Amino acid sequence: MAITRERAERIARAHACVRCQEYSYKKLTVRPAEASIRHELHVAWSARLVCGVCGTHQELGIDDEGDIVYVG
Ligand SMILES: [Zn+2]
Repeated sequence: MAITRERAERIARAHACVRCQEYSYKKLTVRPAEASIRHELHVAWSARLVCGVCGTHQELGIDDEGDIVYVG
């Protein structure tokens, strides 16, 4: 049983920007992970974030337990 989209959003927001270490995101979208990475990496949700401070684009993979599996 995967975590909810709301929970995945909160986890993504709690992740500091890899470049500037801020938590201020001007854009954050969470969508179900594609089947390929879901099976390979056990990722439930893919989150895309755009930092509100430095503008860095990041992608996070969040698994069924709410752990971040990768940062891209
Ligand atoms: Zn940043």
